[in-house]
Amino acid sequence: MDTGRLLIFLALPMSLTRRQFHGFLAAPALLPLAARAQDAGFDRLVERFLEALWVLDPDAAVAAGRFEFTPRMTLPSAEQRRKTRAFLQQWRAEFAQAADTGLSTSQRMDRAMLVAKLDSDLWQLDTLREWQWNPSVHNPASLLDLPLNTEYAPLPERLAALQRRVAQLPAFYRAAQASLARDGGVTREHTELAIQQAPGVQGVLDEIAKRAAEAGQAAAFKQPLAQARAALQAYVAQLKRLLPGARRSFRLGEALYQPKFAHDIQSARSARETYELALARREEVLASMLTQAQTLWPQVMGAEPQPADRFALIGRVIDKLSVKHVPRERFVSAIREQLPELEAWIRDHDLLSQDRSKPLVVRETPEYERGIAGASIEAPGAYAPGGNTYYNVTPLDDLTPEQAESTLREYNHWILQILNIHEAIPGHYTQLVHANRAPSKVKALFGNGAMIEGWAVYGERMMIESGYGASPEMTLMWGKWHLRSVTNTILDYSVHVLGMKRADALDLLTRQAFQTEREATEKWRRVQLTSVQLTSYFSGYSEIFALREQLKARPGFALKAFHEQFLSYGSAPVRLIAAEMLKT
Ligand code: ZN
Ligand code: ZN
Repeated sequence: MDTGRLLIFLALPMSLTRRQFHGFLAAPALLPLAARAQDAGFDRLVERFLEALWVLDPDAAVAAGRFEFTPRMTLPSAEQRRKTRAFLQQWRAEFAQAADTGLSTSQRMDRAMLVAKLDSDLWQLDTLREWQWNPSVHNPASLLDLPLNTEYAPLPERLAALQRRVAQLPAFYRAAQASLARDGGVTREHTELAIQQAPGVQGVLDEIAKRAAEAGQAAAFKQPLAQARAALQAYVAQLKRLLPGARRSFRLGEALYQPKFAHDIQSARSARETYELALARREEVLASMLTQAQTLWPQVMGAEPQPADRFALIGRVIDKLSVKHVPRERFVSAIREQLPELEAWIRDHDLLSQDRSKPLVVRETPEYERGIAGASIEAPGAYAPGGNTYYNVTPLDDLTPEQAESTLREYNHWILQILNIHEAIPGHYTQLVHANRAPSKVKALFGNGAMIEGWAVYGERMMIESGYGASPEMTLMWGKWHLRSVTNTILDYSVHVLGMKRADALDLLTRQAFQTEREATEKWRRVQLTSVQLTSYFSGYSEIFALREQLKARPGFALKAFHEQFLSYGSAPVRLIAAEMLKT
């Protein structure tokens, strides 16, 4: 799902990739045969790079599951940026020089991905400079929360490490204050977000105090926590002083958007081409939805005449159908019960191989991870072998009856199945299982988000094509869901490059894409606070689909073999996978 993780997602330090919630399964104990042919020298180079990265950036290490780095913290200081720049330049040269000869396919992809990542980090550091204009990137909460709530060691040991991290918060906030532009060069939206997130940071500090007291360590935490709270307050006070003069636009503008898209998405297409493709796809989807809605109208709406406006006609039918949904108390269990059905469908229709030894555990989202209501796949990181893969579903307990009804209509009888296809089978979970058959730390740590999201969106279409849930209702609802990915791309480009205004954005999302007010206002907020990420769903999907159609034209094409081969490369950019698959 694409709405859930905004607040945590925005709190991640700048050097991290934003794929926290698409972590990876443990590497299998025995390497597959193909992996043994790898060049050991290249693997050692990658190891040296990663170990040096963790030393330079302990926050990135902790986020990747290397908890022994918890006592140290990455400070957003000028000194740290200088060191980072030198580090990135040095390693970029190392990887650019490494010869491709003797490398396996996977290693060649790793090398290309590392050079691209280092280029991207350098561009973010020196050109995008978000550390200067987005105060919400200076948020220590998630990396206090993670060691506190991950049982990598007994609690007293984790608290001892956290105590040293907490003690660095005054230096962290001093560096953050010094980093921010003073002459109005911050954006109002990100400054407001950082102010809004302060109670969340406070809450994590309170939780640390509570757990320390329970463990009999209250005394050791008293002074560092008091100083950390004071530092947080001083930061918030500075943000409130900056706010009235904040005049940088939250809109990225074409000059920054185009390169950011190129760095983050790693597509063969430009941002503009992707946007234009989304406009064309939107018309195709709407035409199909109109046909379904017209077919359904008499049975759903009776004798009432059909509206002339296509959006009104489609919207009315969707509204009427959406009353069919599970009762709120069955939301989590209904999801759990559906997974075996999806697994059976994939098997019986020979679409993909599956692995029963790595089962998916459906659970209620743990309290400390609950942001906005939602669902997500959470897999152990590259350094946490052997853990479970969870399908986190936030139960609807905390919602008012009206909010619960709105959410249930959104995740109605048909959409709930598509959600499970996207998150689990054959979407994110299945992709992760396949990716881990060819273990690559580079792809596990720096995997391509557009490939990952694109696969889930492609998986929805592929299931519908295979006849899953075949009915005009399902086709219509899938159209609505698919239109969301397409609209995300149009919205992001329109807002950041073409200057689309709030009223037009909300109209695009509600009237023209059939979303609820609540979903649309959340999306408007997200597009103001992030850029490019919203395009990853459609961008990845459209490249995977185009690749399949190109290969389909060749003799001997088989769908299952295509899926198996595509997924076997792991979470690499679709552009690189396509180059390999078109070679043979
Ligand atoms: Zn997804
Ligand atoms: Zn209802």
